[in-house]
Amino acid sequence: MRGTHQCDVAIIGGGFTGLCAAHHIAASGRAPLLLEARELGFGASGRNGGVVTAKFRVSFRDLERRHGLEIARRMYQMGYAAIDHLETMTQQLSLTAADFQRRGHLALAHTPRALQGLGAEVAWIEREFGKGAARLLSKEEIEREVAVTGFHGGLLSPKAGGVHPLEYLRGIARGLVDRGVAVHGDSPVTRIEQLGDRVVVETEHGRVEAGQLIIATNGYSDLTPATRAMHRQLIPFRSAIISTAPLPAALIERIMPGRRLCGDTKRMLRWFRLVGDRLIFGGRGAFGRDDSKQAFDELERSLRALFPALEGIAVEHRWSGLVAMTLDYLPHVGRIGDRVFYSVGYNGSGVALSGYMGKQLAALSAGEPVWLGPLERQTAQEIPLHALRAPGVRLAAGWQQLLDALGR
Ligand SMILES: Cc1cc2nc3c(=O)[nH]c(=O)nc-3n(C[C@H](O)[C@H](O)[C@H](O)COP(=O)(O)OP(=O)(O)OC[C@H]3O[C@@H](n4cnc5c(N)ncnc54)[C@H](O)[C@@H]3O)c2cc1C
Repeated sequence: MRGTHQCDVAIIGGGFTGLCAAHHIAASGRAPLLLEARELGFGASGRNGGVVTAKFRVSFRDLERRHGLEIARRMYQMGYAAIDHLETMTQQLSLTAADFQRRGHLALAHTPRALQGLGAEVAWIEREFGKGAARLLSKEEIEREVAVTGFHGGLLSPKAGGVHPLEYLRGIARGLVDRGVAVHGDSPVTRIEQLGDRVVVETEHGRVEAGQLIIATNGYSDLTPATRAMHRQLIPFRSAIISTAPLPAALIERIMPGRRLCGDTKRMLRWFRLVGDRLIFGGRGAFGRDDSKQAFDELERSLRALFPALEGIAVEHRWSGLVAMTLDYLPHVGRIGDRVFYSVGYNGSGVALSGYMGKQLAALSAGEPVWLGPLERQTAQEIPLHALRAPGVRLAAGWQQLLDALGR
């Protein structure tokens, strides 16, 4: 961006949160202007696994324990509203390349105790919302769905699915540009200032005067000091992905006939899915600040241990990105003063939720009532001792890996 611009709502961050906020603001007849530091999708939205689920990192039973039944019920509905929102976006914008399909998600229990937990979650969902939205599968049923051994059973969520994240993101961006919305890449915001009834946002070569501001910088909030208030309420955690070479059709039929999306129940989650004819395999760990060969090697070892049938199939692509964790494992959505709104901290489950929160931010900025339940923050709260987060992440990841290894 160059020069001085005026708009109704300036948006920082070209991921799902920022782009969906821009989409809904433009749809309501107001003028958004979006600034992305690098290229659109540079952050998690352009690098994720495209697993579209309704879950939060906290189970619905835990949400009930923490916040009461009514709030847990509304959070469950929010999770599914987020998937519906993603589906509606792909339909309204005709995003066929995003290839959203509700193939169903399988949570695979790595211990008998984890299976008990999944069983209790299914019972909660059936008690509150009836049968159909979740089903407990036996070990044998899991083995018919996917050719892996070592799991004790699982939870099938039939309404979850998969999307091609970068195609989805670029489709939304194309929709904005076609509508004449100002979308600027290579424009890191360096300064934010509230001046009277305007918010002034500066980049190296330009300046925007806006009525309101939305900050959607999530795990990448430390790219510049301007969004430090976001960064300090988050713990960025590296998540890595590898992709195999194309698999022969007969092999796909043998290892994942239903093309479900799968993830295990470990704290240091491993997940996998098919994208076209490739198997994509991802996970988290103490993977450090940058891409590392060690992280990719670890993932490949897990992949090959889980799927011996992939012997002789090469791993062709490797990449990673930052998920934004919070101390309460829930996203934080709030405002700073009267004119600045934000949504961050999807804890690695934001493909559907981040876009949906973009829609909620658009509504908030229009002064409409929005129910955010325990996600709502009155102000950005800094994590105590945030400067120690890097050794803290290593320590926490090591501890969680140990608990996983012990089957706890
Ligand atoms: C490897 C990986 C796999 C994942 N897999 C899944 C999955 O399968 N399912 C799931 O539900 N979730 C998954 N996630 C999480 C999901 O991708 C995120 O929750 C979601 O994309 C967050 O979107 P966002 O728009 O809030 O943030 P981001 O997409 O991270 O966007 C933030 C943007 O802000 C920009 N920015 C930062 N600072 C500035 C500045 N000063 N000026 C301008 N721009 C700035 C950044 O460049 C970035 O593009 C995964 C994440 C990763 C990293």
